[in-house]
Amino acid sequence: MTVETVLKQTEQFFNSGDFKKRLAQRIAYQTESQQQPRSESLNEYLQQVIQPELEAMGFTTTQIANPVLDNCPFLIAERIEDPALPTILCYGHGDVVFGDAENWREGLSPWEMVEEGDRWYGRGTADNKGQHTINFAALEQVYKARGGKLGFNCKVYFEMGEEISSPGLAEIATQYRDKLSADIFIASDGPRLTAERPTLFLGSRGCINFKLSIDAREQGYHSGNWGGLLSNPGTQLANAIACLVDKQGRILVDGLKPPAVSPAIREILSDIEPAGQPGDPEIDLNWGEPSLTPAERLFSWNSLEVLAFTTGNPQRPVNAIPPKAHAVCQLRFVVGTDTDNIIKNIEQHLKQHGFNNVDVESYGITAATRFDPTDPLVNWTLDVITQSTNKKPALLPNLGGSLPNDIFADILGLPTLWIPHSYPACGQHAVNEHMLKPIASEGLQIMTRLFWELGEHGKELIAQHKQHQKNK
Ligand SMILES: [Zn+2]
Repeated sequence: MTVETVLKQTEQFFNSGDFKKRLAQRIAYQTESQQQPRSESLNEYLQQVIQPELEAMGFTTTQIANPVLDNCPFLIAERIEDPALPTILCYGHGDVVFGDAENWREGLSPWEMVEEGDRWYGRGTADNKGQHTINFAALEQVYKARGGKLGFNCKVYFEMGEEISSPGLAEIATQYRDKLSADIFIASDGPRLTAERPTLFLGSRGCINFKLSIDAREQGYHSGNWGGLLSNPGTQLANAIACLVDKQGRILVDGLKPPAVSPAIREILSDIEPAGQPGDPEIDLNWGEPSLTPAERLFSWNSLEVLAFTTGNPQRPVNAIPPKAHAVCQLRFVVGTDTDNIIKNIEQHLKQHGFNNVDVESYGITAATRFDPTDPLVNWTLDVITQSTNKKPALLPNLGGSLPNDIFADILGLPTLWIPHSYPACGQHAVNEHMLKPIASEGLQIMTRLFWELGEHGKELIAQHKQHQKNK
């Protein structure tokens, strides 16, 4: 069996309609994790779809109850062919966001997959059912082609709560660290840089949301009788925000900035142009850190956003000095940022600038991660993608958005390789979510070649990776 034969068989499998049928069955499960009470379909998706699929490839599977949330289970599966072979950890999530059926376009429904031209519509086609269906189908193609073997050990960590911020994912990873131990982490979620360009990303930016409040007094006072005598919390908070971030979106607090962009990252990002696709908004070239390119601003710098700001009653303004003002802000940040002291640094900066009455409250933080882009695993993966597609893949040091990748990178200590099978305009988390058939087909080819090659050259590859880490 050669790689060409396996890829030919994979193409036939895709073109026969079997892949489409498989995905359509999965879309029919209404696995909305945000629904209260959570539906039985979360359990059923694991037990009726994922478990049998993996068991048919000789995996042993264990369903694990969520330690922090009822009816939101996990699955850990493993297939050990030979302890001397490398071990790959795969991940996926079977839950989806709200179906929002009444707002889909005429003729479409979240729970019944509909084909129109190049598109398969349905909730989860892009996020994440379509993506893990591709990866498990690729495993299956390799397993069959090798006569009931993969050529490597494989583990799967599967959750049903990603859309509600992955409750329990870190706890289970910590508790089952040995069971989940591996050499490489490979998964698919989120979008490619563009529909045309296959993409590899190595981590994600982190994120912290925080609230700024000024609570000056219990009630508002007539602005004619008291204006000039009483401080205005709205005015003060607007100025406080302006002292954190300027009118061009440039962060003014040193403690909220990452270290300077390294030459290696700059070189990688010189090949990346974000946005510019049909339907994308025009980007503002004079926004953000002035010395950086758009790609550097998005993938290797931090951004501070005001998400919401209220004072008084915007729906019904009255002629009074409002008693309070609140803003919810957000910092997206890359690795290297002083994440332990974000709130402290904001408080200090505000005090230094004379804002003594602004209260700062954190809503929790997601860590930033970025696997070393100079590791041989990265080039190897890019080569596999190039061979599969005859295209130059986009390498992103990390996504601009956030993922629970710290669980795999930090708790499990794995090199994290993400190969997304969706694209920015897929309608993820919105109505009319869809998967592009050409990307699904290309993704299946990429993943089949990747798993096949891991079976051929996995041992040498892991040895090179370990050597690289030792030399650092
Ligand atoms: Zn999602």
